[in-house]
Amino acid sequence: MLGVSRDAGADEIKSQYRKLALKFHPDRNKSDEAPEHFKEISEAYAVLSDTQKRQLYDQGGHAGISGQYSQEDIFGGMGGGINDIFQNIFGGMGGMGGGVQRGADIIQEVTVSLEDILQDKEVSLNVTKDVACESCGGSGCSPGTSKRTCGRCGGRGQTQKTRRMGFASFVTAETCRNCRGTGATIQKPCRNCRGEGIRRGVATATFMLPKGIDTGNYRIEGQGNTVPHGMSGDLIVSVKVRPHPQFRRDGADLYHDRHITMVDAALGGKFQVSTLEGTETIKIDAGCQSSTIIKMGGKGLPRMGSWGRGDLYARIVVDIPKKMNRRQKELLREFQAESN
Ligand SMILES: [Zn+2]
Ligand SMILES: [Zn+2]
Repeated sequence: MLGVSRDAGADEIKSQYRKLALKFHPDRNKSDEAPEHFKEISEAYAVLSDTQKRQLYDQGGHAGISGQYSQEDIFGGMGGGINDIFQNIFGGMGGMGGGVQRGADIIQEVTVSLEDILQDKEVSLNVTKDVACESCGGSGCSPGTSKRTCGRCGGRGQTQKTRRMGFASFVTAETCRNCRGTGATIQKPCRNCRGEGIRRGVATATFMLPKGIDTGNYRIEGQGNTVPHGMSGDLIVSVKVRPHPQFRRDGADLYHDRHITMVDAALGGKFQVSTLEGTETIKIDAGCQSSTIIKMGGKGLPRMGSWGRGDLYARIVVDIPKKMNRRQKELLREFQAESN
């Protein structure tokens, strides 16, 4: 059950039990098998850590124990059952169940254009959130008064609750209802926050969006909701890069369709191509086929968190006229006759 050999020493057994108990304690492991499994490993430990019971086990295996002891007796020698083993090994459950309270995260959306992300961009957001009360500085106490130690939990912030499961009992730590885990009670509540220590407010979060940023969520630590006596949550900035009417983005590269007439394609020449910053001149050879791609190095987006920029790929789209007048048709037929 504990995964130790028959001749394992007391230290090995204890360390193995500690490992398994941390894994299967019902407060930490929410699976259906956890309580039963925890009970079994605790039973195994209760037997193996008691010299007399260990002797019986070594001689007669599990049957040797069951014959001599009832289930209650297995834990009887330990004093108060599984939890005493636990107290013994872990020094109470306070460190396992409790933990610092953390404020909730806040998600806020920021929409930017491709032009916006050519450079680092400073963004200021007004975030409505729980902030520390400015009258009491978050203590919840009316100015000039202070807190007193909670009478219910004696300042520990936790009370213990015993839960029986078959022959085993689990003692779990609960946050004290009187002081809500703070260990202290307010004598005279602050009038601005009614003793909560926090209130709804608007805080400005200012941060830098790095150039070349892509759509996604970015976490700014500690800028979320505040909780009294705890850690603030995070501000999650959900960045949306707006689709561009002219450019399609792939990482740091941009794609763009440049339409030209069939005559320009046949004769070639110099043409203007849009970029995010303006226009660039490109040269097209005579006889350019539709879908030819012309690479404009370094005209893409900055590479986020790296050096340099991506490229802009201009795809040549040759437009075939849909309507022609009589003269144009004549010329094309002449052109055709000349080509044969
Ligand atoms: Zn206050
Ligand atoms: Zn209390």
